[in-house]
Amino acid sequence: MTEIKVNLSQDLKPVPEDDKLGFGIHFTDHMLVMDYNPDQGWHNLQITPYGSIEVDPSMMVLHYGQAVFEGMKAFRAKDGGINIFRPRDHFQRFNNSAARVCIPEFDIEELLGGLVKLLEIDNRWVPSTHGTALYIRPFIFATDQFLGVRPSHTYKLMIILCPVGAYYAEGFNPVKIMVEDKYVRAVRGGIGAIKTPGNYAASLLAAVEAKEKGFTQVLWLDAIEQKWLEEVGTMNIMLKLGDEVITPPLNGSILPGITRDSTIKLLQQWQVPISEKQISIDEVMAAGHSGLLKEMFGTGTAAVISPVGSIHYRKESVVINHGQVGELSQRLFDEITAIQYGDKADANHWIETVTI
Ligand SMILES: *Cc1c(COP(=O)(O)O)cnc(C)c1O
Repeated sequence: MTEIKVNLSQDLKPVPEDDKLGFGIHFTDHMLVMDYNPDQGWHNLQITPYGSIEVDPSMMVLHYGQAVFEGMKAFRAKDGGINIFRPRDHFQRFNNSAARVCIPEFDIEELLGGLVKLLEIDNRWVPSTHGTALYIRPFIFATDQFLGVRPSHTYKLMIILCPVGAYYAEGFNPVKIMVEDKYVRAVRGGIGAIKTPGNYAASLLAAVEAKEKGFTQVLWLDAIEQKWLEEVGTMNIMLKLGDEVITPPLNGSILPGITRDSTIKLLQQWQVPISEKQISIDEVMAAGHSGLLKEMFGTGTAAVISPVGSIHYRKESVVINHGQVGELSQRLFDEITAIQYGDKADANHWIETVTI
């Protein structure tokens, strides 16, 4: 295991109160940094005070977007320790994302060692109120000072941390979703299956227009026929039709969500029928009108489970479960969060514990 250089901050910041955290606003005292060059590979793993970095105007990522990121969470356990949720799976996806945009892969165990060290150092930033968490944002970007389209030779990997408030501080709030039939997010063979900034740039205008019309999120359809459900904003999507749960398959343009995977595994263990299969927007609207559509929810790290209260497609709307949270959505949310805080046994070995 490589040695981790640590340079502690001499100027610690005050930690905000648990009820004033918001999301993605406050950053901790330290960050993890690692560099890549062709001679040394990934090297110089260090923890330094959180702060600005110098950026040359020709830095390649600014021009060609060669970058990837991750998003995961750590939770304060009752015994005072820290529970990281599925970090190896997140780092594996991080490496898969990197490979797709020609960024060299890193050693997962080495990076996990660095993350654990960073969490030990910034331990006081992990909030403890139920519903709060420490959001972990690893990212890699191309640092060559060069104009011209080719993979960069040098990269920087960083991890920054931010304490985040309860997503549902005022209780579960089912969202209003607009089915997007003008713009598309990603196409098979493209980069929709990885966490890379370009996907989010591509989604902004649709989200802005949907917000102007009073919707919370957009539901993306496939880019070719604009017929098959793909995903919602930064979440995967699941529907309960009768007694069966359906989610679109990982066809190459959908992000393989870790929460999606956790949800599928739990449903299988509960013997709730779950299948990964294509479902068209026409089938969904028909099921909404006939009453077959019982529940619909998004899955993602930030919200865990986000119930959908209504969907709007062209001139038609359907309200799902009277706009209320469904039983299965609630059960999944309760189960996953209980595992994350260590209140329930971790039968699937999803938790990596940091002892403080
Ligand atoms: C991150 C993300 C998800 C959800 O993935 P999780 O691992 O569950 O957080 C779904 N869709 C998109 C586009 C995402 O960026």
